[in-house]
Amino acid sequence: MSTQDKRTGTASRYKNQVDYLIIGQGICGTFLSFYFQKENRSFLVIDRNEVLTPSKVSAGIINPVTGRRMVRVWMAEQVISFAHHAYREIGSFLGVTGASQKNVIDFFSNPHQRQVFLQRVEEGESYLSSYPEQNRFNSLFNYDLGCGEIRDCYLAHLEELLPAWQRHLASNGQFIEERFDSRDMHIGQDSIQYKDIVASKIIFCDGLASFRNDFFKQLPFAPNKGEVLIAEIPGLPVDHIYKKGFMLAPLQQEHLFWLGSNYQWSFDHAEPTKEFYEQATRHLKSWLKLPFRILSHKASLRPATLERRPFVGIHPYQKNIGILNGMGTKGCSLAPFFANQLVQHLLYGKAIDPLADISRFKRILAL
Ligand SMILES: Cc1cc2nc3c(=O)[nH]c(=O)nc-3n(C[C@H](O)[C@H](O)[C@H](O)COP(=O)(O)OP(=O)(O)OC[C@H]3O[C@@H](n4cnc5c(N)ncnc54)[C@H](O)[C@@H]3O)c2cc1C
Repeated sequence: MSTQDKRTGTASRYKNQVDYLIIGQGICGTFLSFYFQKENRSFLVIDRNEVLTPSKVSAGIINPVTGRRMVRVWMAEQVISFAHHAYREIGSFLGVTGASQKNVIDFFSNPHQRQVFLQRVEEGESYLSSYPEQNRFNSLFNYDLGCGEIRDCYLAHLEELLPAWQRHLASNGQFIEERFDSRDMHIGQDSIQYKDIVASKIIFCDGLASFRNDFFKQLPFAPNKGEVLIAEIPGLPVDHIYKKGFMLAPLQQEHLFWLGSNYQWSFDHAEPTKEFYEQATRHLKSWLKLPFRILSHKASLRPATLERRPFVGIHPYQKNIGILNGMGTKGCSLAPFFANQLVQHLLYGKAIDPLADISRFKRILAL
């Protein structure tokens, strides 16, 4: 079947001339195309619709404070409020709920963790509160050491949002379902050609596939494996995300919760493991007082980077080729912000944050 046959949506000319060709429709490709649309630029998105991408396995948690020391995530003040607005905007355009505010109830796992949390509250960390209703969750969870609340947390509803955006693109003839193969791409002076498509620029939002891409494989990617369980828990309120070692986050489908995850820098394969299944199930049994049933177990590789900062911008030596990638463990918070920065850079020459701009790798990209 030719590309033309597989294209969904309205019929198009044999040669498609667009401003931008976007490879990948995870969170990055979704927001990049959304901001191009807002700026009335023409584009096409190609995605091979893999089943277990990080964007599809992710819980969608947007959380301003993380880690053992309960410190603010990188650029928390800018990216969290930007993400909140971005999910609301794309959601309202599509007629779905893009994200909901769900603060995290952090049940302390040990006395040290409790002490760190309460100290950060005392220091005036405005995202944290020593939750006043300490007994509120007594009938639901075991938590002898009490709990705190992380405020301004959101849950991006990617399981609804990504397919809805894909349907929108398809209905406009802007989506092609196929595996992009760079051997079919020709780089011209002022454009790139891919099969029957001519674009001024191609932007790679293809997650870990860029790891093997001829233009960006030198970038210091550091894939990180994560596993999750999907559990059915009737009766557990859906107004919060719960945390005790693992995160337990409500999904859009009634009674379903996401339980995860782990962070593995070293692994033999990308498949789910028996060890994680047993560890997570055991943990849930000792934490949750309600009956539950595990429905599925998934794994995926996060497009993480060695210095834990994204890769955003135009290739220093290939002016028609760009990238939006490397979102690591924080794609839900970072992708909308940097998709918008990239669009503003391309259209109006505005600066990309130097810590994210791939021009910082000018030397290694010359190799
Ligand atoms: C278990 C787990 C839990 C997570 N939880 C969270 C969380 O709660 N909050 C958070 O902020 N982040 C979370 N993350 C991280 C987050 O999911 C990622 O940062 C984000 O999804 C990366 O998005 P992306 O668009 O860059 O890449 P991807 O999701 O990998 O999207 C790339 C797309 O490109 C397509 N593609 C690749 N190659 C080709 C090709 N050759 N041709 C056509 N299409 C192609 C793929 O089909 C895919 O759709 C989690 C990740 C994992 C694994």
